[in-house]
Amino acid sequence: MTAVYQGVDGAYSQLVLGHYLREHGIEMPTVGLPSFREMATAVAGSRADAGVIPIENAIVGTVREGYDLLAEFDLEPVAEIQWRTDHRLLGVRGAELRDVREVLAHPLVLAECGAFLAGLDHARAIPCEDTGVAAREVARGGNPAIAALASPAAAAIYDLIELATHCSDDPRTYSRFLVVRPRHASHANPLLAVGKSARRKTSLIFSVEERTGSLAGALSILAAHAINGDKLESKPYLGHGTERVFYVDFDGDVDDANVASALADLKKACKTLTVIGSYDAHIGEPIGRNDDPPRALVELVREIAPPPAPIADSPFPRVARAANPPGTTLQIGGVRVGDGEFTIVAGPCSVESREQILDTAAAVAARGAVMLRGGAFKPRTSPYAFQGLGWEGVSLLAEAGRASGLPTVSEVMTIDQVERMAAQIDVLQIGARNMQNFDLLKAVGRCGRPVLLKRGLAATVDELLAAAEYILSEGNPNVILCERGIRTYETATRNTLDLSAVPVLRERSHLPVWVDPSHGVGVRRWVRPLCRAAKAVGAHGLLIEVHPNPPEAKSDKDQALTFDDFGAIMRDLAQIDTWSHPQVRV
Ligand code: PEP
Ligand code: MN
Repeated sequence: MTAVYQGVDGAYSQLVLGHYLREHGIEMPTVGLPSFREMATAVAGSRADAGVIPIENAIVGTVREGYDLLAEFDLEPVAEIQWRTDHRLLGVRGAELRDVREVLAHPLVLAECGAFLAGLDHARAIPCEDTGVAAREVARGGNPAIAALASPAAAAIYDLIELATHCSDDPRTYSRFLVVRPRHASHANPLLAVGKSARRKTSLIFSVEERTGSLAGALSILAAHAINGDKLESKPYLGHGTERVFYVDFDGDVDDANVASALADLKKACKTLTVIGSYDAHIGEPIGRNDDPPRALVELVREIAPPPAPIADSPFPRVARAANPPGTTLQIGGVRVGDGEFTIVAGPCSVESREQILDTAAAVAARGAVMLRGGAFKPRTSPYAFQGLGWEGVSLLAEAGRASGLPTVSEVMTIDQVERMAAQIDVLQIGARNMQNFDLLKAVGRCGRPVLLKRGLAATVDELLAAAEYILSEGNPNVILCERGIRTYETATRNTLDLSAVPVLRERSHLPVWVDPSHGVGVRRWVRPLCRAAKAVGAHGLLIEVHPNPPEAKSDKDQALTFDDFGAIMRDLAQIDTWSHPQVRV
């Protein structure tokens, strides 16, 4: 014997069904099915003994799918249950309301919580099958930026914490559910043994001829039989011109003589009439919490809305130094990035072969690099230049990272590369040419990996900071800024490495700042002095291109260092103190 509901553990339907069975002393396992249709099919075909169908919500109105299933399938309604839908915003442990960027919930729940969601203007709503699925997905993802609207029971099942309570537009809201059994249930079905309660209700769907007074005529039949209507709702009768169908619930049972005669009269007055059936009416208050006094919506929204950004009129309030005066430190594998650290990241411009990347990884690790870089998707000026090995390059870089024990860095050029890259690579690089690709910035802002954001070819310091703000505003706080040279009138060097940006960035922002002298000057022999200068001026780390055989490099060969060149630079750098910027002003 089983009772079925639509959804997974923690769905409201499961709670309602469990409650009904307990109240009637019926012991039956409850099983979640993927859709309402499958649930209705299972019950109508007697493969399950009971099911539950939502039919109405106090805020949103009729759940049309529920009534339509009742009209279509051979289901016998047994009892109505009004269930207070006490939505909470649930997140993973450590999550905070102000960091939530996505809210998963059933569409009905999203509608019930419209004012709450409007108050969370930094988060977008994502519909999903039911509240249980929403909670389960949040728990599985483990991302503090994603939350679910679901019941306190779902929080307990999936070990989630409540980030906000009172999420529905009115705390008195509830949903109506009908518990159903097969219309021709077997004698063993324990629901048959449940006696009818004192108050019964009947639901039906009808349509009337399209003429003045026909609806009033149908309803007056109920009035003439002193039948109390409980609900009336209409929708267009598709395929029948401007005709409408009406959903009606009223007090009484089809087995009452009075109701039976009213229905006989109604049948004559209606074009179509489907009697869904009679069932025990819910008596008293809806089940569930009722200890929250109703409050004004404005007050509720104000309570749950995140505090205003510290300097809302700044284009980069989250990136600004004031947002985290002591400075941000990142942990990437075993590597720390930030104040007091000087992080050397080395590797080829492009991953070219397994041997090339494995050799380079081993060589730079042996000389003191703590992270490995390598491009797989290359932003090349000419479409005929080597474009990178793509996903094969990503796998090779990941393999070299594992072999050498170094965390990895690689560039993403498009939104659709982000998730797959994040699954294999430790730091996602946004190249100079994409610094203001705002949709790409938002996408990496939603991934769980730190981002290395390079300064655009012609970007000001403030534009770089505003670009970083895009990433933080989507919930990813782990951003490293990178000065890599800008375009000036000077052509003696590939770019003009703007080392003056380092102290400026460190003053204006709490994010770590790296320097890429390789792209900054573009000439092998000038990389070395600029590495020294970058450390002296207060960079938190360097990004350096190294190749086993620079003249043969498939990209940026003029700036690539040999393993020996790299070793010499590492020895140089050991002589230079990291400048700790004691004078950074807030
Ligand atoms: C790179 O790091 O190889 C690269 C293409 O850098 P940038 O975007 O700074 O030109
Ligand atoms: Mn390069």
